[in-house]
Amino acid sequence: MAVPQNKITPSRRNKRRAHDALTASSPVECPNCGELKRPHHVCAACGHYNDREVVAQIEEFDLDEDAA
Ligand SMILES: [Zn+2]
Repeated sequence: MAVPQNKITPSRRNKRRAHDALTASSPVECPNCGELKRPHHVCAACGHYNDREVVAQIEEFDLDEDAA
């Protein structure tokens, strides 16, 4: 097993981890439905992008429809 030759000091370890923080995304309002969506992504609520529907949406999915 590889073993570190030198101990990493807490200072050096913390300096390495200084760049590890995640930044929160800033959601924007969908111009079609007003739902918050990720910028430069298709709206998950209505499937629109650049003022046109690019992902077809089904009205409602009924799980009990073909139970028999
Ligand atoms: Zn939308």
